[in-house]
Amino acid sequence: MRFSILSGVLLAATAATLASFAGESSAALLRARAYSHRDEQAAATWQKQLRRELATLLRLDMSLAARTAWPLDAKEAGAEEKSGYIQYEVTLNATPEQRITAVVTLPADPDAAPFPAVVCIHGHGSSRHTVYDMDTIYHGFAATLAGKGFVTIAVDVGQHEARDPGAALMGERLFDLIRCVDYLESLPEVDPDRIGCAGLSLGGEMAMWLGAMDTRIHATVSAGFLTVMDQMEQNHCMCWKFDGLRELVDFADIYALIAPRALLCQIGEKEPPTQFTPALAKRAFAELHCIYEDMGVPEKAALHIHPGAHEIHLESLVLFLEEQLAPQS
Ligand SMILES: [Zn+2]
Repeated sequence: MRFSILSGVLLAATAATLASFAGESSAALLRARAYSHRDEQAAATWQKQLRRELATLLRLDMSLAARTAWPLDAKEAGAEEKSGYIQYEVTLNATPEQRITAVVTLPADPDAAPFPAVVCIHGHGSSRHTVYDMDTIYHGFAATLAGKGFVTIAVDVGQHEARDPGAALMGERLFDLIRCVDYLESLPEVDPDRIGCAGLSLGGEMAMWLGAMDTRIHATVSAGFLTVMDQMEQNHCMCWKFDGLRELVDFADIYALIAPRALLCQIGEKEPPTQFTPALAKRAFAELHCIYEDMGVPEKAALHIHPGAHEIHLESLVLFLEEQLAPQS
């Protein structure tokens, strides 16, 4: 099954469900930068302006500009041989004052380099190791990718407190992931034109942010997160929210920053009915899909409603990343 067939089926299924949703906030001052259809050039201008505004809200203006002059000072340790790949830990400078630790895997056969690479992102109550664990809702997707010839990297995602009291929690989480991409780009084994990211739940949210704000990401898998902010106000912990966010955008607008690059969203049919429901995902997907249409690449974004619950759908994740991060001919 080629992925484009899957996405075509899903797109067709989306349109029919659109009209039936209501009940969102009627506050007029929200979502001032909502995306609406426009031509390709105006869409790219909208993206550049919105990225700048969001970087300011995330308190990342200064560090995004300064980081190219900040050495990573990466220190690798604890290499272990696994089936088809080497796994080790690396510590590196997120900022000149702060070091972070990540798990990295490299395919065992160096002759096959350069390799595609994926930033693998966990959610609440997990760690950098969880995405390699088969017996979790992540179904070991990072280990599966590692065994299939991808370089992978996973860092601990900030939970509910920023390390730096002056940082925005979401900005700090995102910046750690951007530094993981910096590290991937520093590896001679990695093809910098074939870097992607994937995550579930809070990890799906961070995959959205990383794909949206870092254009070095060529393919994004965001699982168990696509929804609308009005829903997230109801019964979810509020770590998604920060000052000024709702006044600018809803989640669909942040996802729209990923276009024209490849995006796969996954949502389980068995998600709890008060959480990340297929109905809300379809509504948000129809909104984010507008910019893919305007940019002439409607097939580059897909929503996969799978039979599972709040979990990774391993088969479609792997298929999508293999296809979207394949060597360019
Ligand atoms: Zn939270």
